[in-house]
Amino acid sequence: MPRIFSGIQPSGELHIGNYLGAVRNWVQLQHEVESFICVVDYHAITLPYAPEDLRRRTFEMGLSLMAAGIDPAKCTLFVQSRVPEHTELAWIFNTITPLGELERQTQFKDKASRQESVAAGLLNYPVLQAADILLYKADTVPVGEDQVQHLELSREIARRWNARFGDGFFPEPQPRLTPTRRIMGLDGQAKMSKSLGNTVGLLEKPDDMWAKLRPAVTDPARVRREDPGNPEICNIYHLHKAFSPPATVDEVATKCRTAGWGCIDCKKVLFENLNAELTPIRARAEALQADPRLVTDALDAGAAHAGTIAKGTMAEVRQRMGLR
Ligand code: SF4
Repeated sequence: MPRIFSGIQPSGELHIGNYLGAVRNWVQLQHEVESFICVVDYHAITLPYAPEDLRRRTFEMGLSLMAAGIDPAKCTLFVQSRVPEHTELAWIFNTITPLGELERQTQFKDKASRQESVAAGLLNYPVLQAADILLYKADTVPVGEDQVQHLELSREIARRWNARFGDGFFPEPQPRLTPTRRIMGLDGQAKMSKSLGNTVGLLEKPDDMWAKLRPAVTDPARVRREDPGNPEICNIYHLHKAFSPPATVDEVATKCRTAGWGCIDCKKVLFENLNAELTPIRARAEALQADPRLVTDALDAGAAHAGTIAKGTMAEVRQRMGLR
C-alpha cells in the first residue's frame, strides 16, 4: 500500500483555505493509503514565536484536524517534536545537501526577504521536510503547486544519500497534486492566510462567517446589480466549486454572466452550502473541546507509532553511515 506523509504548520485553528487546499484531501486519502499526518512544530520555530502560544496552536491544530475528519484510527496523527529522529535525520541530510540548492528555493527567498535577520533554520527548512518524509520512507506526498520545488529537493536528497550509503534505501517520493486549486483570501489579493487576516476559520460561528463573506471581494466589473460578471475571476465562484453541488455551480456561472442575481444573493447560497459542510465539523470540535483528552491521547498514540518506525529507520541509517 502506498504510504503518504503530510505536514501542516501548527497555526491553531484551520481555515477554509488549508481545509480545501490540503486537509479535505487527506481525509479522503486516509481511507485509501497508509497516511502519516504531522503537525510540524519544528518547522514553526524557524520564525519568531512565543512558546506558550506555540503549545496552544499545536493542540488546536490537532483538534481542528480531528474535527475536520482526520481519524486517528485510520491514520497516524502526531506532533513532529514528539519524534526527535526528525531532527537527527535532518542533520544527516544537511551534510549532503548543496548550499546552492537551498539558496535557490523560492519560498526561502520569499520568507528571508521579509526578515531582518535570517536564521539558518529557515534556509534548512526543506532539509527537515525531506527528513520528515523519508524517515517514514513515504513514497507519495500530497502537495499544492507551491510545494513541488521542495519535494524535488527531497528526491534529490534521497538520491544523494542512496548513492553514498544504500542504493534504494530511501524511496524518491512522488508528488500527488491536491485537486482543489489554491484558494484566494476574501480580499481577493493573495492566498488565504491567517497572517494576512483574509480567512474564514473552519470552526467560526455562522454569524461571524457571514460577516466576513458578505463584504468579500468579487468581480470588480459588477459595480451595479445589472452589470454582468465573469465568474472565472471571482473567488466566490471558486468557493462555490468547492462547496456547492455541480448544478448550483452552473447556476452561479449563468446568473453571474447574465446579471441574473446580485453578488449578495450569490454569497447567500454559498454561505448555506458552506454551513452545511462545516456544521458537523463544528459539532465534532465542540465534543473534542469538551474532552481534550481525546486529542492528547490520539496525539500520544500517533507519536508512539511514528516513533517506532522512525527508530527503525534511524538504526539502519546509523549502521550504514558508520555512526555508533
Ligand atoms: S455573482 Fe457570484 S460569481 Fe459573479 S461576481 Fe458576484 S459573487 Fe462572484
